[in-house]
Amino acid sequence: MSVPLLQINNLSIEFNTRRGNLVAVEDISFEVAEGEIFGIVGESGAGKSLTGKAIIGLLEAPGRISGGKILLNNERIDNLPYEQMRRLRGKSIGMVFQDPLTSLNPLYTIGRQLIETIQTHTNHTATQAKNRALELLREVGIPAAEKRIDQFPHQFSGGMRQRVVIALALCVNPKLIIADEPTTALDVSIQAQILTLLKNLCRKHGTAVILITHDMGVIAETANRVAVMYAGKIAEIGPVREVVQNPQHPYAQGLMASIPVIGRKMKYLAQIDGSMPRIAERPSGCAFHPRCPHAIELCNKQIPELLNKGKTKAACLLFRNGNP
Ligand code: SF4
Repeated sequence: MSVPLLQINNLSIEFNTRRGNLVAVEDISFEVAEGEIFGIVGESGAGKSLTGKAIIGLLEAPGRISGGKILLNNERIDNLPYEQMRRLRGKSIGMVFQDPLTSLNPLYTIGRQLIETIQTHTNHTATQAKNRALELLREVGIPAAEKRIDQFPHQFSGGMRQRVVIALALCVNPKLIIADEPTTALDVSIQAQILTLLKNLCRKHGTAVILITHDMGVIAETANRVAVMYAGKIAEIGPVREVVQNPQHPYAQGLMASIPVIGRKMKYLAQIDGSMPRIAERPSGCAFHPRCPHAIELCNKQIPELLNKGKTKAACLLFRNGNP
């Protein structure tokens, strides 16, 4: 069996604070194959963005990886020195964030930014790098690339800026792109265009994507597999089609029920009462128990493990011994 491109093994992330160590992400494991789009979905505070930042080595203090391993092509990357990790970020892992302006320098033309990135990681001459930059701009759908390459980020619309960021992420043919809420700040029609673009580019280049979002609709449209996160843990993980059509975990069931379905008449959309607990206030046992409609007595005492349930894995005490 071939080795997955990325392996996350028992990853934990904690914050050292004056009130002690707060565990933000706890013992999560998953794998991403070459060319796969792997979704991580959950509410704000679930730990999904921290997981993405840990993979690219951009966790900010006082956050730190407190346990587990991250392997890219079977080599550990979570313990690399800063400079080596910085090189790896440019060469093997690309990034696309919610706000394109966090990735673009407002003072430089987009051409300069693309060309510098290409030249930092390849032996291209200035002319070769410019040609590559133009090729990338055309590939991500920037019209009149020859003219726009000399423009500044503020001269682009939000959607076009995000296309430029995707071009920047693709500069050196990375093996993996981490896209954290890449479409959240965009209009719905532009969102769809950017997601289609990401999907097509990954298919063409064989690049894997970790797509982090709070929006299950985005995952359903784009990803191959998904991990649903709740309070720093994976609640359910499996093929997107299964998780969307036949969710097993009560939290995943609640998320799916809250998505409107075209053609289905509903007076109100379902909602999960309550909100995600803050890191310092996570309940004992299964962290979802105060909000769970199926909670049993044991749920506030015992932490559920991920168990096979149908074609997915779900962390729920109801599934012990193959029940229900
Ligand atoms: Fe609900 Fe209990 Fe399952 Fe948690 S373990 S999801 S509280 S039934």
